[in-house]
Amino acid sequence: RSKDAGGGSFHAYEPQLHLVAEERRVLEIALRNALEKDELTLNYQPVVDAGTGRLTGFEALLRWTHPEFGPISPAKFVPLAEEARLIAPIGEWVLRTACDEAAKWDGSIRVAVNVSPEQLHNPAFVSVVTQALANSGLSPDRLELEVTESVFMREGTGAIRVLESLLDLGIRLSLDDFGTGYSSLGYLSRTRFSSIKIDRSFVQGASKGEKEAIAIIRAVVALAQSLGMATTAEGVETEDEHAMIQGLGCTKVQGYYFGRPLPVGEARSLAIDPRASARAA
Ligand code: C2E
Ligand code: MG
Ligand code: MG
Ligand code: MG
Repeated sequence: RSKDAGGGSFHAYEPQLHLVAEERRVLEIALRNALEKDELTLNYQPVVDAGTGRLTGFEALLRWTHPEFGPISPAKFVPLAEEARLIAPIGEWVLRTACDEAAKWDGSIRVAVNVSPEQLHNPAFVSVVTQALANSGLSPDRLELEVTESVFMREGTGAIRVLESLLDLGIRLSLDDFGTGYSSLGYLSRTRFSSIKIDRSFVQGASKGEKEAIAIIRAVVALAQSLGMATTAEGVETEDEHAMIQGLGCTKVQGYYFGRPLPVGEARSLAIDPRASARAA
């Protein structure tokens, strides 16, 4: 960020930066109102067992459709929400909505919810989760929270204590986008993750025959197995990619090949009677 954004030279030397800053400002103001204006929704993407293809759960993915700007990608507005300190109220809405929805599904189907580091650095988040579970009646073992490695990068042990209190509630944790951050393997042995999600970039690399990507997937699968954790391959788009991922021993898969993120009603019809949907497929 420019130190002298108020100076006249700002426009002359950094016109692009100015445009981006302007866009961010406009989006931030719109995002502040998005919750009360009902512009946020959740889509649900199927997660399936790699071996049997059986539906095991859905990942809740946040969507924002602005009346003028149209749909805005979470890759764009989630970081903005984090910086603007809006992620706590938005994240709480996501959690409540996802738990309320999952409580309507078959008892064998889990829901995964993405959680930002900011949320985990606040001890009050534990009661947010407790309340979302209590209000919905969802059994804690059907809720999976997805966190990224970045949560361990900040100083202090606050987030680790929050994670431990969350585990005490009986929920599950998974490590999202594994391999894309600054991995220190130490926390894998200290925090009880149920599964590691292998980032789509490795799946893509492996499907192009990149030896390094294949070696990394193999190593992550072996590491997870020896720690008693499952592995989920993200972003599986084709039958070939699925076959390759299966061959490498991943336990679960998620990607356009099995299903795009679905509107709530479509996900619900699959989740209410997963056996009937499996027969129909
Ligand atoms: P993520 O948690 O890693 O979610 C997976 C992303 O990969 C989703 O993007 C999903 O739509 C996309 N994806 C799934 N399968 C495929 C595939 O086969 N091919 C391709 N090309 N993409 C696939 P999406 O929905 O745009 O979300 C992007 C990121 O935004 C998420 O990455 C997550 O980090 C964040 N996010 C989404 N919803 C929330 C939320 O409720 N809270 C927080 N804190 N972050 C969220
Ligand atoms: Mg995720
Ligand atoms: Mg991910
Ligand atoms: Mg990802």
